[in-house]
Amino acid sequence: MTKPINAFKMAQGQFDHVAELLDLEPYVAKMLREPQREYKCQIPVRMHDNTIQVFYGYRVQHNDARGPLKGGIRFHPSETLDTIRALSMWMTWKCAVADIPLGGSKGGVAVDPATLTESEKERLCRGWIDKFWNVIGPHQDVPAPDVGTNPQMMGWMMDEYSKIAREYTPGVITGKPVGGGGSLGRTEATGFGVIYTVREALKHLKMDPEKTTVAIQGFGNVAQYAAIGFVEQLKGKVACVSCWDRKDKQAHTISHPQNNVDPRFLQSITDQYGTIDKDKAIQAGYIIEDGDAWISKDVDILIPAALEGQVNDQTVQKISDRVKIIAEGANGPTTPEADEVLKRNNIFLIPDFLCNAGGVTVSYFESVQNNMNYYWTRDEVLSRLNQKMTQAFKSVLQLTEQEKVYTRDAAYMVAIGRVVKAMELRGWLYIP
Ligand code: NAD
Repeated sequence: MTKPINAFKMAQGQFDHVAELLDLEPYVAKMLREPQREYKCQIPVRMHDNTIQVFYGYRVQHNDARGPLKGGIRFHPSETLDTIRALSMWMTWKCAVADIPLGGSKGGVAVDPATLTESEKERLCRGWIDKFWNVIGPHQDVPAPDVGTNPQMMGWMMDEYSKIAREYTPGVITGKPVGGGGSLGRTEATGFGVIYTVREALKHLKMDPEKTTVAIQGFGNVAQYAAIGFVEQLKGKVACVSCWDRKDKQAHTISHPQNNVDPRFLQSITDQYGTIDKDKAIQAGYIIEDGDAWISKDVDILIPAALEGQVNDQTVQKISDRVKIIAEGANGPTTPEADEVLKRNNIFLIPDFLCNAGGVTVSYFESVQNNMNYYWTRDEVLSRLNQKMTQAFKSVLQLTEQEKVYTRDAAYMVAIGRVVKAMELRGWLYIP
């Protein structure tokens, strides 16, 4: 049986391993293996039937040595403090590896947003800001969307904060709707960023993108734009995508019989929570398979882009010998046990906090545009994103080859090195 995943223990285990490789001073490692600050609060919300439901909200701030904190807000029924701690830690490494001047944080609410009406959702978003406004801010900590939250929700949150701050403060939150302080290119940023790193990995492995096929887990924001980017930019083929079916309460893999998924079509029959209308998919000739089927497909590339722990001691055994690259669109999709198998099988891993750094990079561009009150074109945004992702990939690849280490370890080495340097330069490591 697959062991239950504790994402925080996993994030700490990955960190401890590299801290040892880097020979970090024990007190420095201790400062980095835990968040600097953590907040938990109750958010009472009036529901449509006039009852009051109490939700639990979180904000965890891992490390702000390199600049203001940055991290999404996740609305998910099984959200826990430990998941948010792990995600906040990965945000620190993500910003550092992408070389953007921000630290790492994360927030969330334990709730299934699909069970809320639009106005309940709005009250919960505004409630989150009413509880956390004093620990966030454009120069302090800037939230963004993540699983279960979207641009409209960021718009409500920005409005609530602006009311409390008594001035229009678009830079307090990113991932806002375009026209409401958002940046062009933010919606597709994470998925396209995944594809920019896949393109570089294919170059490195001397593989022709047009002859490659990918299987993707998930079909939310990240997966949709990864699929679109793979087909439209790299001219490769998508064999399948998958999703959690909220009606059937189980995951499905939606496969195309000729490995020729049309991501724009599937996007048109997918709801805002990433559930594909399976009847419409069947009518269009797609095949519905078991939720795990994506991982055993005979493809060149796997992109897990759903949740944590999906490539684990059990599922890793099902990966086909043909797979050469795993591009981690999701945060923490691979367990340490599965990492060992990937290393042994010489599969080229693009680690999560490098692979999916496109979202935070364009979020950073959004706050830069907000602060300047001057907005770039979509092409300008995506071309700057391309540059940042390519540069980040190259610095990790260089260290992988130089130190002969696993790509995940190399990414950690780059990121930890930059964070420790900022801590040193700020005088945090000289304890009088
Ligand atoms: P989302 O809510 O838009 O989509 C999640 C998708 O996963 C949905 O299609 C859902 O049906 C599917 N899913 C959930 N459980 C599943 C299961 N058991 N099997 C198969 N599919 C399942 O979320 P998203 O924004 O696309 O985020 C996906 C991952 O990427 C998360 O790990 C998130 O933290 C990470 N991430 C997101 C961003 C971003 O900008 N959105 C940035 C960096 C990292």
